[in-house]
Amino acid sequence: MKNKKVDFLVVGGGPAGLSATLEAGKRGLRVLLVDEGIQLGGQLVKQTHKFFGHEGTYASVRGFEIAKILVKELKKYKNIEARTMTSVIGIYEDGVLAWDRKENEVFRIEPEYTLIATGASEKYVTFENNDLPGIYGAGAVQTLMNQFGVLPGENFLIIGSGNIGLIVAYQLIQAGASVKAIVEIADKVGGYVVHLNKIRRLGVPVLLKHTIVRALGDNRVEGAVIAEVDESYNIIPGT
Ligand SMILES: Cc1cc2nc3c(=O)[nH]c(=O)nc-3n(C[C@H](O)[C@H](O)[C@H](O)COP(=O)(O)OP(=O)(O)OC[C@H]3O[C@@H](n4cnc5c(N)ncnc54)[C@H](O)[C@@H]3O)c2cc1C
Repeated sequence: MKNKKVDFLVVGGGPAGLSATLEAGKRGLRVLLVDEGIQLGGQLVKQTHKFFGHEGTYASVRGFEIAKILVKELKKYKNIEARTMTSVIGIYEDGVLAWDRKENEVFRIEPEYTLIATGASEKYVTFENNDLPGIYGAGAVQTLMNQFGVLPGENFLIIGSGNIGLIVAYQLIQAGASVKAIVEIADKVGGYVVHLNKIRRLGVPVLLKHTIVRALGDNRVEGAVIAEVDESYNIIPGT
């Protein structure tokens, strides 16, 4: 098995991992950045919208453009090696095992320090039939649509009106799908007005104080039952 000694191993090439890699690289450390995705950038490569946040951290720049800026910066440093399609599969006392999927080869890394920057995983809403094919988390939809160029369906109901729900609804419409409604359990929209207005201009209804009860369909989702909720977020029967 091949062995690789580095000062600093960064696992995950999203904005956190890219920024840490750059900072360490600037200080002269031998850095190895590994990411299991097909390109560096993490969530950024799926974000076609202009980012909100602080001006010092690329607010108003589109997510995938931010990824390009960070990756370009990375290439200036000869002491930084970045590998995509490489998954860390085990961290042991005597080394870190990584699987290079391009070469189909497992190798061992011996880092002085390791940073885990593997991001977050999505939480799913619990409702009857939420495992039917055709029900996706927002991240999966963005990966299929914006990274692999696959539109995952034609007609969508979106649960949740935070920025992610609003942005994904807008991106789906841009890609040619129809968004029937956005369902929001709270009494107000969670995302920014700028994203809400884009959705409203396209005529998508936002149903406040509503939630999903169950998905309909046998082998794939064909519809959904939604209902109104009271102040304690309990479903009001008959609605
Ligand atoms: C729809 C949407 C809109 C957003 N809009 C904004 C916005 O406008 N402004 C803003 O500031 N933030 C926004 N965010 C949030 C922002 O994208 C995230 O906070 C940010 O990407 C988190 O960065 P990260 O580096 O921690 O994780 P991620 O970007 O998730 O990166 C983690 C990386 O780790 C890799 N990885 C995971 N496991 C392994 C492994 N075992 N081995 C190797 N690699 C691995 C993954 O492939 C991935 O590339 C948005 C997020 C979404 C989903």
